[in-house]
Amino acid sequence: MAYEALYTRGRPKNFAQLIGQEHIASALARAVSKNRLSHAYLLVGTRGTGKTSTARLLAKAMNCEKVIAAQETGTQLLPKEIPCNKCSACLSYDSSPDNVEFDAASNRSVEDVTRLLSTAYLAPLQSKVKTFIIDEVHMLSFEAVNSILKLIEEPPPNVAFFLATTEFNKVPMTIRSRCQTLNFRLIPRETIAPYLIKIAQRLDIELQEEAALKIARLAEGSMRDAMTYLDQCYAMTDKVISLRDVNNTLGLVSDSDLDEIISAVRDKDRKKIADAITHAYRSGLTPVTIAESLITRLRDLEFEILGGRTTGEMRTLDILIDAMRKAVVEMQGSGIPDIILEMSLMKLAAPPGNVQVSTSPFKSSPASPAKIETSEQAENLDENNKFSYDTFLEELKNENITLYALVNSAIVIDRTGDTLTLGFRNPVTENLFKKHMEKFIAALSEYAGGKIKVETIVDTNLPLPILSGMSEPDKRNLEVAMNVFHSSDVKKYEDDK
Ligand SMILES: [Zn+2]
Repeated sequence: MAYEALYTRGRPKNFAQLIGQEHIASALARAVSKNRLSHAYLLVGTRGTGKTSTARLLAKAMNCEKVIAAQETGTQLLPKEIPCNKCSACLSYDSSPDNVEFDAASNRSVEDVTRLLSTAYLAPLQSKVKTFIIDEVHMLSFEAVNSILKLIEEPPPNVAFFLATTEFNKVPMTIRSRCQTLNFRLIPRETIAPYLIKIAQRLDIELQEEAALKIARLAEGSMRDAMTYLDQCYAMTDKVISLRDVNNTLGLVSDSDLDEIISAVRDKDRKKIADAITHAYRSGLTPVTIAESLITRLRDLEFEILGGRTTGEMRTLDILIDAMRKAVVEMQGSGIPDIILEMSLMKLAAPPGNVQVSTSPFKSSPASPAKIETSEQAENLDENNKFSYDTFLEELKNENITLYALVNSAIVIDRTGDTLTLGFRNPVTENLFKKHMEKFIAALSEYAGGKIKVETIVDTNLPLPILSGMSEPDKRNLEVAMNVFHSSDVKKYEDDK
């Protein structure tokens, strides 16, 4: 027998089983009992929150013999009694030709819709009410919307419409104003997790609480997603589903791995960052997954510390979230997502000068191993730089273009206290710079309002300095090119210039 997905098996059978949408369930139960149902509903909410399930329950209830009897005698029914699921109308609901259901995302043409809706003008064959459930109604063509509109404005007798949408704003106002709107909430984790545990019990497996919470968090308010995740874990495990099983099955980074990365960034320990990322890569995770998981974890941490800790800690988390969000965007379509992730994290642990100076991972201090181990006292996350190096360079450009060109071909390796360390890829450029260094120190010290020492190093493995002056797309293209050509040709071009 074909395996039936948990989500399909777990569909609510009555209003009492509508998890997380109690406000809708009780309102509809009252309306059903009092026979005050509308002929057109607009069901609005994120995917997996129960829109279609609710539409089906209502459609079924409109024809349920027990419900009709209760309406005639004025008896109030409980949510769990609607629909009854026992009468002949309930039992034949799935096979009845009077219940039309279609997805506007796949039936967009006016012909499709016209064909489906044409039957609305014919009397129901078996049921009391003919029902139309239309999913993703905002996807319908203009003409299709018009034909639905005509039906809703002057409805034939005994016809009901249930229009579901994930994008309320894309539903034409003419439709919105003629329907009774039901707003579906995102289902909270606290509701999803216990429900998953209950479902697991029914399957005769133990879903551990931590595991249930992780799935619930991942589902982001969608019961369908939660059930799909549980289904995947269920298929891979025996008797018990632990947090570890969830992480492994769904290819997630464990919270402890994420916390490791976060604490390494907080400690500004680049070696620890590199180790933590390598560890995460070894589990077969993509850089994007790691970055996205970091964002989720950081957001959770923010919620945990809300009210409890200092604003400083909050700001540190904000900076990290921002950096990861930027990294995720940069990684899209890039051939070097791993480098982007590493550089973004390294940058946060870089010495003070670099963070202020650059906004891109490529401009940050290079991953020169010797330096990584020695830079430990950086306070860059606190943004306590006394002056902006970028602004200084802009001014220098106007005053002494030769000096500017020389300095700009270097990269800020370190900026601690009153010492600035510049890195050159080319010893010739470094030599030239040294000839003009006195002038540079004088200008810089004047700008900074205090004596600044300047040191230089030469390292042919430094990132290309020309990257720092480039626009983001150019920079990315060049990085990709460097990757492809192992930088030799690009380097040559740079040297020839
Ligand atoms: Zn029934």
